[in-house]
Amino acid sequence: MQLLDCPVRNYAWGSRTALAELRGQPGPSPHPEAELWMGAHPADPSRLAGSGSTLLGQIAEDPVAALGQRVCERFDKRLPFLMKILAAEEPLSIQAHPSLQQAREGFERENHRGISLAARSRNYKDDNHKPELIVALTPFSAMAGFRDPASTVELLEQLGSERFVPYRDLLAAQPDGSGLRALFTTWITLPSSDVSELVDDLAESCVALLARSQRGRFAAVARNLLQLVERYPGDAGVLAAILLNHITLRPGEGIFLDAGNLHAYLHGVGVELMANSDNVLRGGLTPKHVDVPELLRVVDFEPLELAPVPLRNAEPGGTVEQVYQAPIDEFALSRIELDATGLLHSVSHGLSRGGPQIIACTRGEVIARGGEQEVRVPAGGALWIPDSDPEVILHAVTARDEVFRAVVPH
Ligand SMILES: [Zn+2]
Repeated sequence: MQLLDCPVRNYAWGSRTALAELRGQPGPSPHPEAELWMGAHPADPSRLAGSGSTLLGQIAEDPVAALGQRVCERFDKRLPFLMKILAAEEPLSIQAHPSLQQAREGFERENHRGISLAARSRNYKDDNHKPELIVALTPFSAMAGFRDPASTVELLEQLGSERFVPYRDLLAAQPDGSGLRALFTTWITLPSSDVSELVDDLAESCVALLARSQRGRFAAVARNLLQLVERYPGDAGVLAAILLNHITLRPGEGIFLDAGNLHAYLHGVGVELMANSDNVLRGGLTPKHVDVPELLRVVDFEPLELAPVPLRNAEPGGTVEQVYQAPIDEFALSRIELDATGLLHSVSHGLSRGGPQIIACTRGEVIARGGEQEVRVPAGGALWIPDSDPEVILHAVTARDEVFRAVVPH
């Protein structure tokens, strides 16, 4: 096992304080720090601490020792997941990810057309799907999946804008996936002057709704929409946001985003685990390329009842390690809480062997012991455990240790 040096990605929506605070470094940072990448993604692989080599290089050198036979065969000698710590100060773009088949076809199609991988208009950067699981470390707000249309009709009624009446009627007449597709398509293809007027009108309606009641059913939605208008005036993504579920996760709660789920992260710090892919179809809240026809092909318009992912104990009767239940082949995520005083949680926990593992410490500090080795993993630190290592046992250092564990499920 080895500690990883993880690259920080400086996107504009990132926080100047959250990742620095997590890692005990002085802040605010000179640039927004958006994501800490823990893994072997070719675009920015983690380095093995104290050596010149990357995790990507080490896996390539001896894939069977790193990943084990099973993962090598199933995932073409590559680590099939990427773990991130994500710190959103401002909303990310509204987006959806393709299914595996859509990604294979799209990648092939764009290669065939001779669109360069670096081109701004390129949608498919690889031939893989990108299911995502995000777990909150702080209260984490997001939008994901389409709200039940009957509720959205009620929201539009409460907003009370004359200008939105035809759209409300459209959805009321067809309160299902087809109605949502029709309304979303209408909005995202409107001339930009019409979008601007609608967004301005929406902002006024949200202000009025909040003036009437700060605690009503749609108050949190109205506050989110106002924040989006402020950041992206005239962007059709703000209209799309009217149709989506808005959720605020409590620390430890997670949501799973499967192919076709239209979503945007709004604010907060979280652990994200995903398949190794860069395939993103954007739908607004961004100055980047938006390919509307391709987005419409990928988005799943069926209404979604959004709820945190259920958890189960990793071992029968043992509550120290809890697994987020998401139906994915590439990865599984679990959360482990340890307590050096032994009052609240266990003092130590053994990690079952089998395949590659990455351990991220998100609170406190833990000591990992395996064979002759002992490694301290501080908050914000990540530990790589290859398949060939003996069993690793985590030991608590503080009374409030928290780690997340990424593995490839059997
Ligand atoms: Zn996404």
